Amino acid sequence: MILTVTMNPSVDIMYQLDELVLDDVNRVQTIKKTAGGKGLNVSRVAHQQGEAVTATGLVGGELGEFVKHQLTEQGIQHHFSMINGKTRNCIAIIHEGNQTEILESGPSISEEEVEAFITEFETLLPDSDVVTISGSLPTGVSSAFYTRLIAKATQHHIPVLLDTSGTALAQALSREPKPTMIKPNLSELASLLQTDEQQIADNLAEYLQQPLFKGVDIIVVSLGADGAFVKWHDSFYRVTIPKIDVVSPVGSGDATLAGLAVGLSREEQPEVILKRAMAAGMLNAQQQATGMIEASKMTQMMSEVKVHQ
Ligand code: ADP
Repeated sequence: MILTVTMNPSVDIMYQLDELVLDDVNRVQTIKKTAGGKGLNVSRVAHQQGEAVTATGLVGGELGEFVKHQLTEQGIQHHFSMINGKTRNCIAIIHEGNQTEILESGPSISEEEVEAFITEFETLLPDSDVVTISGSLPTGVSSAFYTRLIAKATQHHIPVLLDTSGTALAQALSREPKPTMIKPNLSELASLLQTDEQQIADNLAEYLQQPLFKGVDIIVVSLGADGAFVKWHDSFYRVTIPKIDVVSPVGSGDATLAGLAVGLSREEQPEVILKRAMAAGMLNAQQQATGMIEASKMTQMMSEVKVHQ
């Protein structure tokens, strides 16, 4: 089973308008509400590949109930820890070829709620063979928190795939035990290493050998339409992908993480896992919906990905 962790989920609202008029009333007819948060995208895409998934994290209030209800409807198991605060809304307004977003920061979490979650997380580990951790940490949770989860999973010999950014990523890389795998994009690497993106892109192998990454077995640097550059233990891979018609790349990184988790859980060879990961990212980019793929196209898409050592 793949256990996905989403500490700050949301109910994402999408409003589609012909035109956004400022300082006036905008009436909207095309509305979509979905359980959101990077970890929930991972859950959906892993589930669509036929893998058993359990989603965990923190939820509260009516929107928390909405998140759980939607996962149940989609056939995805979940074990969330309940909090007193209320799960947030994130609003995206699609208008005139633009996407204007309004993101609530989410509830504040108490120390007791953090400890209750850790207890819940530990009860889920014996049935898990891969753990994914995605996204930012909510207010009130220490930036070193992900290391606690990594330590618990490591005690059970379960690989942890960590997809976060900023302080949460920097903290997780500065402590032991390290995550098994990280999946930064170039801009996340640039802010982590405080170096120019182009400079990193031109010397990726060198940067990925910095002491900061010591102990991280697998680093997948996703490069959008350019595929990925990967450090897999002591080997390096350049992964190239075909040119595709993109509808919306939002969530492609999460779909990629889902592909990596599914491949690791099935103990596939590195080349196969990387093809699966790229294919999942591309199939997500070919859909309007975030964190959704057309799974029947997986095998064909994987055959078009090239992995060079
Ligand atoms: P993130 O969303 O984390 O920034 P990327 O944008 O690198 O991640 O996307 C992850 C993967 O999704 C890519 O490695 C690629 O396989 C696929 N992908 C994303 N954007 C595109 C695109 N424009 N064309 C083709 N594939 C894409």
